[in-house]
Amino acid sequence: MSAIVENVVKDLKQLEDLLVQCSRCGTCQSVCPLYKKDRQESSVARGKMYLLDALLEGQIQKAEEIQQYVDYCVLCGRCKANCPSGVKTDEIFLRARAILRQVKKLPSWQKMVLKVAMGQPKLLARLAPLFHMGVRAGAKQVEDGVFKPIGLFKPFIGEMADRHLPEMAAEALTKKYGGFNQAKDEKMRVIFYPGCATTLIYTGWGEAIVETLLYFGVSVYVPEVNKCCGIPSATMGEMGLYQQQVGENYDY
Ligand code: SF4
Ligand code: SF4
Repeated sequence: MSAIVENVVKDLKQLEDLLVQCSRCGTCQSVCPLYKKDRQESSVARGKMYLLDALLEGQIQKAEEIQQYVDYCVLCGRCKANCPSGVKTDEIFLRARAILRQVKKLPSWQKMVLKVAMGQPKLLARLAPLFHMGVRAGAKQVEDGVFKPIGLFKPFIGEMADRHLPEMAAEALTKKYGGFNQAKDEKMRVIFYPGCATTLIYTGWGEAIVETLLYFGVSVYVPEVNKCCGIPSATMGEMGLYQQQVGENYDY
C-alpha cells in the first residue's frame, strides 16, 4: 500500500460512523439520476459507499478509481432525502472527495479558476458578456439552455470537456439590480445575496425574486459584489479553499 493510500485510509476512518448507517437496502437506486442513466451500481450512493468501505477495510487499494466514482456524483441529495436509514450521503461524499483529493490533485487550471476567478466577483460580473459569447462560440447547444464544449477548447479543459455547460447570461444580474431597489409602498427591507450562479447564469431567477419582493412592498438590497459562497470548491474536494471563501463572506 502506497503512503498516499495509507493516508487516505487513515482519513477515511473519520467517516466510519456515517458509512456504517447504510443498510444496503438499495432504495437510493430508484431515485439516483446517474443510476437511471447508466445502470451501474458504482453510480448510486450504495455502490459508492460500498467502495469506500472496501478501501477502508483494505479489500481494495485502487484509490484513484474510487475517487473517480465518488467524483461522479452530482450531489443532488435525492439519495439522502429518500434514505429510510437517514444516511448522510451528502456529507459522506463531500468529505470523501476532500480526502481522496490527495490521490489525484485538481488540475492547476481548475484550481486557478477557483482561486483567482472566483476571488474576483467584480471582474466576473464585468466579463459576463464575454462568457456569454464564449459559451456560444465554444460549445454547441444540446438542449434548451444547455451546451457541450466543442473544437478548440476541448484539449484545455480536460475531463470538463464531457460535461454540460449552462448558458451564461448576457449581462450580470447586478448590472440591473445591484444596490438598493426601492419598493413603492415599502413595508420592509431585505438583503438578497444572489451568489455567482444567480448573478451570472440564472439571472432570470434573481430578477423574478427581486421583482416579486418589490411587488409586495419589500425593498431589496442586492450587493454589487457577490463573493463566492465556496460551494464549487467544496464539491471539488478543495475544503481549505472552501473554508477560506466562507470566512471571507463572514468578514464581508
Ligand atoms: S444509502 Fe440509504 S437508501 Fe441507499 S442503500 Fe444505504 S440505507 Fe438504503
Ligand atoms: S447525490 Fe449522487 S448518488 Fe445521491 S442520488 Fe444524487 S447523484 Fe445519485
